[in-house]
Amino acid sequence: MAIKAASSLHRPIKIWTDSLSSLMAILNPKSHHSIVREIQTLLLSHKHIHLRWLKAHVGYLGNECADQLAKEAITKGNPFFLPKPLSYLKAEIKSVALSIWQGNWDNGETGRSTHDIVPKVSNKPVGWNTEEIMFVTGHGPFPSYLLRFNLRTHDNCSCGEKGDPIHYATKFPFTLSWHFQTPTVSLKLQWLKNILTNNFSRTRLRLLMHFLCDENNLIVENNN
Ligand SMILES: [Zn+2]
Repeated sequence: MAIKAASSLHRPIKIWTDSLSSLMAILNPKSHHSIVREIQTLLLSHKHIHLRWLKAHVGYLGNECADQLAKEAITKGNPFFLPKPLSYLKAEIKSVALSIWQGNWDNGETGRSTHDIVPKVSNKPVGWNTEEIMFVTGHGPFPSYLLRFNLRTHDNCSCGEKGDPIHYATKFPFTLSWHFQTPTVSLKLQWLKNILTNNFSRTRLRLLMHFLCDENNLIVENNN
């Protein structure tokens, strides 16, 4: 921004700026920004001050000097308090809230299988359907889940093995037609991620989960 001082009090003072956005903000009668409001009030009571726009970086000496001074002010100038806009505050609050949430998620005790797949918190949905959520979280018609909530005294499947989601997706004889290949322990996470990102696998998983919900008696027939 460059200011051309008037040689006498009767002549207008022209302020040149290459910031179109600043000019537009000052021209906006509905602006709520406190600095903009202040400038508008000043301009209204000082009619001899005129604002003008000029193109940046095309060699207007005054403007280039002003730019240079502005840059120097960042490193050499005196700091001063500038109120931040509401949007900044909102972004800050959101960032702090997300970071608290992330901390709780990282250090929590429940939902660890979900944490493995979705380690980063976000307020955007992950895009899983009900069946996928049941499978990933283990919150479904599985003996492992029923035991956890004291609805059963053991977590055995009717076939005798541990009845957790992976058992039904890989070993349980009645779900053979929807079986996935058994993953090695170290690749279990990648295996799960692959299923959730492949449309064919997702469909198969959905059918498998539907079957487990509909035919739950096959799983829990040997209760207690
Ligand atoms: Zn079984």
